[in-house]
Amino acid sequence: MPDLKPDDVQSRLAAVLERIRAKEAASGRPDSSVELIAVSKTFGVDEIRPVIAAGQRRFGENRVQEAQAKWPLLRAETADIELHLIGPLQSNKAKEAVALFDAIHTVDRDKIAGALAVEIQKQGRVPQLFVQVNTGLEPQKAGIGPREAAAFVERCRAVHGLAIDGLMCIPPAGEAAGPHFALLAKLAAEIGVENLSMGMSGDFETAIAFGATHVRVGGAIFGSRPPIVSAVAPDEPGDQAG
Ligand SMILES: *Cc1c(COP(=O)(O)O)cnc(C)c1O
Repeated sequence: MPDLKPDDVQSRLAAVLERIRAKEAASGRPDSSVELIAVSKTFGVDEIRPVIAAGQRRFGENRVQEAQAKWPLLRAETADIELHLIGPLQSNKAKEAVALFDAIHTVDRDKIAGALAVEIQKQGRVPQLFVQVNTGLEPQKAGIGPREAAAFVERCRAVHGLAIDGLMCIPPAGEAAGPHFALLAKLAAEIGVENLSMGMSGDFETAIAFGATHVRVGGAIFGSRPPIVSAVAPDEPGDQAG
């Protein structure tokens, strides 16, 4: 774990929020229309607490099990935490995901949509749902292809009875992100969904210019993460950290 001082985390959070508000203003977006998801994956409760103490309430995790290990405790300490699942979801984890998360950004196939629909019925909990679009058509990356996105959203609604609220993407590493954000915004307008989950530490200002409603920012708040999969196998499927 990196050596994190609470003061550093709080000033980094403040700086990110300031950059978001400045970019909203510069892009003619209403003030506070962009929601910051602080991505706390790989960081423990001791590193997350100072960010909560600084006022942040919306967090993102990309593994169900890791989130289960951290957030029940943190939620017991602070009432109004909002938790977003931003990593790939296996259908056998749908139950846990619906129980724990307030939003799921990675709906990308019928099997997941069906499993979520069953759990939403059973549990009477309705997380906000985003469909992940693989805008770069990367074989190792999750997400529905851009051309199939409209039909998939329609199946989510008509076949699975799910309300889809937005689209999400992770542009390919090493490519300009702007065209991917533009494509996602165009698809959302065509499909008729409001929300765009796009933009990470390196490109959230660009994403806001293209209409992001939810930016997912980890490193710029928490500091650099210890390398996990990417140090060993850069092309490992499922490594979507970007
Ligand atoms: C890790 C992650 C982020 C945050 O990335 P940073 O570069 O640390 O800001 C955003 N979105 C997804 C899907 C992630 O896995």
